[in-house]
Amino acid sequence: MPNPNEKKKESPTDTVNYFFDGAAEQLGLSEEICQTLIKPYREIIVEVPLRRNDGHLDLYTGYRVQHNGSRGPYKGGIRFHSTADLEDIRALAALMTWKTALADIPFGGAKGGVTCNALDLETNELERLTRIFTRKISLILGPQRDIPAPDMGTDAQVMAWMMDEYGKRYGHTPEIVTGKPIELGGSIGRNEATGHGTSIIIAEATIDFNLSFDKVVIHGFGNVGSHAALYLTQMGAKIIAISDYYGGIYNPNGLPIQQLFQYAVERRPLKDYRDADQISNQEILELECDILIPAAIGGVITEENANRIQASAIFEAANYPTTMSGEQVLADRGIPVFPDILVNAGGVIVSYFEWVQNIQQFKWDINRVNKEMKEMLVKAYKNVFEIHKNKGVSLRTAAFMVGVQRVAKATELRGYLT
Ligand code: NAD
Repeated sequence: MPNPNEKKKESPTDTVNYFFDGAAEQLGLSEEICQTLIKPYREIIVEVPLRRNDGHLDLYTGYRVQHNGSRGPYKGGIRFHSTADLEDIRALAALMTWKTALADIPFGGAKGGVTCNALDLETNELERLTRIFTRKISLILGPQRDIPAPDMGTDAQVMAWMMDEYGKRYGHTPEIVTGKPIELGGSIGRNEATGHGTSIIIAEATIDFNLSFDKVVIHGFGNVGSHAALYLTQMGAKIIAISDYYGGIYNPNGLPIQQLFQYAVERRPLKDYRDADQISNQEILELECDILIPAAIGGVITEENANRIQASAIFEAANYPTTMSGEQVLADRGIPVFPDILVNAGGVIVSYFEWVQNIQQFKWDINRVNKEMKEMLVKAYKNVFEIHKNKGVSLRTAAFMVGVQRVAKATELRGYLT
C-alpha cells in the first residue's frame, strides 16, 4: 500500500521540465506552445538480445528518443549504462534540444541508449550489442534525420561499429555518427571537446564570478571528467579529488592528473591508485572546494545532500546532475550552478563540426576546431551571463531562455502550431 506521506521521487523529466517551465514563464510562452515543446516527437523501444561469451543470453532494452527537430536533424548521444531507462533517455533528449539551440548549431535534440553495464561486457560482446542495437534503431536514423554520438559507456570505437552497421544497409555514410575515430572521418578535437569546453566555460566564469580554482573536485573520471581535469591542470588548477563508478581518491595537496589520465584511458578503477586517500562517491560531492564538477550520471545533487555541498560554484559537465529540489536548495544557499546545457556544449559543437567536415569531405585542423568551438562557447556563455545579470534569473533559467526561445521561434515559423 503506498504511503501517503512518502514524497514522490522526482523523475529526470520532472527536473528538465521544471527548468523549462522557469524559462517559459520568463519568456511569456503560451500554454499551447509549452505543451508542444515539452512533448518528444518520437520514442522507440527495442529489444536487444545479446549472446554472452559464456553462452547464456541476456535480454537488454534499448531506446532512441527524438525530442524536437524544428531546428535541424535530431542529435544526441548513445548511453550504455544501468541507469539508462526510458525516463532517463527522454530527459536527456530534451536537454539536447535546449543545448543545440543555446549553442546555436542547426540540430534538434535526441538521445538513445541500452540499459546495461558496459563495464561488464567484453569488447566482442560490446561490439555485438552495438551492432544489434544499431540495426534496430537504424530505421529512424539518417545523416539529415538523426545523428548519434558517444555518451556514457560508449566511445569512438562504438561509433565506428555504429557507422559500419548503418553502412551495410545504406552505403558508406560517415556523417551518420559523430565522435568517430579520426581514421574513419572523426574530427580532430572531438574526443576531448566536452572536457575542453568545460575548462573554457570555467575560465570565463572565474573572471565574472571572481572564483578561484585552487581546489577542484571532479565526480566522474571518464571521457569528460578526465579531459576537463587535464585542461584545468594546464590552466593552473589543482585537482584535489576525482572519482569513478567504484569510488574516488582524494589528496588535499593535489592529484597527479597526467598520470591518472591513463586510468581513464585504460578504464582502470581509480581505487587501484595507492598514493591518495580513498573516498566514496557520496563524500566527494560534499568536499570543501572552490569548484565542483559533476561529470558522471544524472541526479546526484539532490534535496538530501545539497545542504552539505561545500563548493563555491558548481559546473555541470554531466547532464542533469542536479535535481529540481537540489537546485532550489543551492539557490537558497547562493551557490551558483553553471548548467549542463552550457558547460558541456563543447562536445556537440565539435560533433557539428565533424558532421560539416564529413558532408564537405574536407578536414579541419585542430587550430580551426578549437578556435571555432571557443568562439561559439564564449558567445553562448556571454549571452547567458547577460540575461542572468540583467533579468536577475538563475544561470540555468537564463540558458534555458536562450535555447527555448530559439526552438519556439523555429516551431512557429515552420507552422507546427497552425
Ligand atoms: P564515460 O563513460 O566516459 O565516463 C563516465 C564516468 O562516470 C566514469 O568515470 C564512470 O566510472 C563514472 N560513473 C559511472 N557511473 C557512476 C556512478 N553511478 N557514480 C559515480 N561515477 C560513475 O562518460 P562521459 O562521456 O565522460 O560522460 C559523462 C557525463 O558527461 C554524462 O552525464 C554525459 O551525458 C555527459 N556528457 C558527455 C559528453 C561526451 O561528449 N562524452 C557530452 C556532453 C555531456
